[in-house]
Amino acid sequence: MARNPINWLLGLLSLDIGIDLGTANTLVYVRGKGIVINEPSWVAVEKKTRRPLAIGVEAKELVGRTPTNILAVRPLRDGVISEFEITQAMLEYFIGKAHEQSIVPIPRPRVVVGIPSGVTEVEKKAVYDASLAAGAREAFLIEEPMAAAIGAGMPVGEARGSMIVDIGGGTTEIALFSMGGIVLGRSLRVAGDEMDQDIINYARNKYNLAIGERMAERVKMTIGSAYSLREERSVTLRGRNLITGLPEAIEISSIEVREALSGSVGTILEALRETIDETPPELIADLMDSGICLAGGGGMLLGLSDRIENEVKIRTWIAEDPLTCVARGAGQILEDLDNLKRFLVGLERGSTQATRR
Ligand code: ADP
Ligand code: MG
Repeated sequence: MARNPINWLLGLLSLDIGIDLGTANTLVYVRGKGIVINEPSWVAVEKKTRRPLAIGVEAKELVGRTPTNILAVRPLRDGVISEFEITQAMLEYFIGKAHEQSIVPIPRPRVVVGIPSGVTEVEKKAVYDASLAAGAREAFLIEEPMAAAIGAGMPVGEARGSMIVDIGGGTTEIALFSMGGIVLGRSLRVAGDEMDQDIINYARNKYNLAIGERMAERVKMTIGSAYSLREERSVTLRGRNLITGLPEAIEISSIEVREALSGSVGTILEALRETIDETPPELIADLMDSGICLAGGGGMLLGLSDRIENEVKIRTWIAEDPLTCVARGAGQILEDLDNLKRFLVGLERGSTQATRR
């Protein structure tokens, strides 16, 4: 790209930000500063007009407590932009908030945004357009598993193979890397949200108990597991008995929760096994050495790394701070954008960026 002197000057002063637009949480990394925003990807909108009323933490607090004319939505629920305008409003809000932290009031930052791998050209374009519409001067896209792997310190740029399994809210991304690219990958719509749903279904079927999403998530995070625990535990489930219609509390054990989660965990394992089946032998040998790295909130499910290790016979470990890998990875790219552009993905015809006119 020919350097326009004005762009060059703006580049020197400008705010560069990396955004992990997750289905559950949005994180914003500011170059030179680190992660400055970490909020749930929720937007509360007015039902009739779909006008955003609250975003992030404030919106999530309204979930389940909103008056009937307000709706709390997660615009990225399945990993892609299902509600363009709401996503744009969310990006605008977070970009604006990151801006408030900057000493130089330079408008229109450059942004690197993570997108799930395997999204269509149309979906990529939607994220890209939403970033520009939200005020970015230039927007770049990076596949989330790539950003997660960079953030987790995996040797993605090297010839030797490495693998990441990023389990978020809406999607699980499995990717095999070699020489700076994704050699093989899977993107599943089975991840943390589905696990919450599993627990809701289990409580309903076994105990006739209706519980909310947040209760289910809490149970998953405290005693959910994928492998026998050294000490099995139990927690209290509170909900409404579907037969009597009255409030009820029951004890549920980690063994039961594991049973509830077994379908989703099985699906993730199956996809992982398929990916490993397709991995060329040379890279398998590398994986046996470098291991499989778990990232995303779902990667913290108790016993998951042991279970994977046991089933695929490859050492498996949880990334340091798995919830921030994508944002930190996008951040590392920002810190050295000119050299690391090869890790970014292009829109049609391989252009990795375009400038807003
Ligand atoms: P996304 O990238 O899609 O925004 P995150 O990586 O932020 O998702 O992960 C959010 C998901 O991780 C949620 O479904 C949440 O319930 C789940 N999660 C967070 N902590 C844990 C935990 N300790 N055990 C299991 N799941 C967890
Ligand atoms: Mg994520």
